[in-house]
Amino acid sequence: MIAGPLGLVALIAVSMAAAGADAGSPVRHLYLVPALWAALSRGAMGGAVAGFLAGLLQAPAIFPVIEESGLSRPALEGLVSLCIPLALGLTVGRLVDQSRARGAQLLALVEIQLSLAGETALAARLAEVAALARRALGVDRVRLDLDLGNGAPLVAHAPASPPPAESQSRRHAMPCRRLVLPLDAGQGRVGTMAVERDGDLGFAARGAAEAVALHVALAVENARLAERQRHFAQELEDQIAQATERLREIDRAKSEFLTVVSHELRTPLTALQGFSELLLVRDVPLDQSRRYLGHVHSESQRLGRIVTDLLDLTRIESGRGLSLRREPLDVRELVEANVEIFACQHPLHRFERCVAEALPPLCADRDAVDRMLKNLLTNAVKYSPRGGRVLVEACPATDRAGMLELAVEDDGVGIPAEALPRVFDPYVRIAHPDTARAPGLGLGLSLVRALAHAHGGLVEVESLPGKGSRFRVLLPA
Ligand code: ADP
Repeated sequence: MIAGPLGLVALIAVSMAAAGADAGSPVRHLYLVPALWAALSRGAMGGAVAGFLAGLLQAPAIFPVIEESGLSRPALEGLVSLCIPLALGLTVGRLVDQSRARGAQLLALVEIQLSLAGETALAARLAEVAALARRALGVDRVRLDLDLGNGAPLVAHAPASPPPAESQSRRHAMPCRRLVLPLDAGQGRVGTMAVERDGDLGFAARGAAEAVALHVALAVENARLAERQRHFAQELEDQIAQATERLREIDRAKSEFLTVVSHELRTPLTALQGFSELLLVRDVPLDQSRRYLGHVHSESQRLGRIVTDLLDLTRIESGRGLSLRREPLDVRELVEANVEIFACQHPLHRFERCVAEALPPLCADRDAVDRMLKNLLTNAVKYSPRGGRVLVEACPATDRAGMLELAVEDDGVGIPAEALPRVFDPYVRIAHPDTARAPGLGLGLSLVRALAHAHGGLVEVESLPGKGSRFRVLLPA
């Protein structure tokens, strides 16, 4: 590539000689053209060679003038035109070299940014960044140490493997410059970059290393941010998936609940419709019609209980709570009345009651305590389908001072230990083959708990599958 400018220098020299142009001829300025051409195409070296040759070829015309007239004006002019191509070639060539190096550096910095902006993890991309930094700086070795404070520090070398032993010994013979720079983009230090060159590390190289260190730090910060963002997006995606799944579950539970409610309402309604129709269309004897009316009455009561339970639960779930009308309560009388009713209705079961002689006085909502007792008794009967003993106890709580205990115990199917914490939650029903057909909405126990809480009390359960259960309502006396 330098052949072109050198050929032009020779052509100008030949032309000048042929035309008999002397040292002061304006044609001599044409020598600047090949010097500039060489500097632009080959940098400082090319510019210097072409400029030097142009000066050299002018010398035979200038030196005789100096010899003849000393340092006269034409002689000085000749000397200046002898030096200018060399000076121009060298200066422009240097500028070209510098801008080329700067361009290559900028390109490498962009590559570093692009490399760290990739999708792969930071650790996997660090070696590539070290190699790019090494190329951009024109040094022999680069080592990057990152400590992001979230695990083991990351280290990357360029070249990746240490130099062979023979070249190491050669290295020791040569002075080696090492520069260690912090990687800090203003958010705190994230690591260091060490650059090494066999021989000198000039001022310009140090400046360039500082710029590269700053860009690496910026790119690392960006990569960290991008990684955090990806992590955050993933978390968000997981949360949305979980929320969607929960919504689906709620939707399923709602449909299931509506099916159960419709079934629960339909059973007493069918009985009501059937018996009332019989009474309307047929001539039924008096005693039979009384029996039918009894059924109508008990089924309408059942319907009423379901609706009341649902309304109460809606009140509790909306945070409105239950309103109580407290009054001094005769617990003995309440227990006896309920045991009597249940004993009449469930001949398969043996009802027992045990009411302590000295019962602490209780000030509570009669209707609420009655509902709690009825719910527990209903469950005791419902979940011991083969019959058995049902015990109702009322006594001062032995393990909680100042509390009255109202307990219902059965020897029915019992509840598995893992299901015990959930039985007081609304709509929860524990599957058991013996009681699969038992009616219910999973509301009874949650209402018992809500009523006990409304009185400042609590409810507890002990149960063994296949042995039976004991529910205790504890109310402040
Ligand atoms: P429901 O009886 O309408 O299903 P509950 O809230 O009263 O609703 O009871 C919730 C669940 O707890 C029942 O479905 C049943 O599985 C279990 N359970 C309640 N009482 C007993 C009991 N005495 N023995 C065995 N399991 C019971």
